[in-house]
Amino acid sequence: MSNLLAGKTALVLGIANKWSIAYAIASAFVREGATLVLTYQGERQRETVEELGAELKATKILNCDVTKQEELDALVAELKNLSPTVDAVVHSIAFANRDDLSRPFLATSREGYTLALDVSSYSLVAVARALTPLMTNGGSITTLTYLGSTRVVQNYNVMGVAKAALEACVRYLANELGPQKIRVNCISAGPIKTTSARGIRDFSKVLDGVAAIAPLRRNTDPAEVGDTAVFLASDMGRGVTGNILFVDAGFQIVALGAAG
Ligand code: NAP
Repeated sequence: MSNLLAGKTALVLGIANKWSIAYAIASAFVREGATLVLTYQGERQRETVEELGAELKATKILNCDVTKQEELDALVAELKNLSPTVDAVVHSIAFANRDDLSRPFLATSREGYTLALDVSSYSLVAVARALTPLMTNGGSITTLTYLGSTRVVQNYNVMGVAKAALEACVRYLANELGPQKIRVNCISAGPIKTTSARGIRDFSKVLDGVAAIAPLRRNTDPAEVGDTAVFLASDMGRGVTGNILFVDAGFQIVALGAAG
């Protein structure tokens, strides 16, 4: 541990279980000395996240469905009681109907499209609006994206559209929040076996394909995403905003045949 986040309070949204990318990020934050607050979505996840939170010595574990403004308001009220400021926010949240990740993109329903964009993109705006009044010393907001935002990845479908919107949100938020010394960035992670990823049809084929041709000839370790999130949340990342950092074993640079 080099205490890169000592004295900082970090809020991490999006832990469902120990395979979640948010769990790897929260673990790295704790290792670096952050004071940690976690959220879970609804009673179904409460026990698991409370157990993981206890293991990570999180100061508080709070309920928050990011599609519900009243739950975001309650989260902010609780945070105000806990800490005078919030320094780092991690938004590691996405959702789309499983059907929309298996049928042709052309068949995406209006409801499925709206839901995916609401949970996976708009929620970043809602979270930023709610939390930035507590970020009085400036700080960092980090979200998670995927290459399917700019390339066609089989079965990623409406989630690719949601990630494209999310990346645009990052740029607009970074521009508006920069004068308050709040930086907003995305980490574009390579495919990682998590509960959400299992909802994408033939996901294991994607994992195998990436490992075969990525420059590092392997998949992404969630701990690598955690370490990059530490960099962004720490003063080391002070000059970086509005950016997409790829943590994907280099996969995004290659074209067919590059592996030789
Ligand atoms: P995960 O463990 O399933 O995490 C997704 C989280 O989003 C879960 O905690 C889920 O909670 C939460 N969530 C969904 N709807 C929510 C809502 N309305 N309010 C609050 N929380 C909500 O999967 P993950 O792979 O770590 O995903 C984290 C982020 O990384 C996502 O943005 C994902 O798109 C991105 N990402 C993943 C990969 C990958 O290959 N795994 C690659 C690049 C980017 P519930 O479980 O309670 O629904």
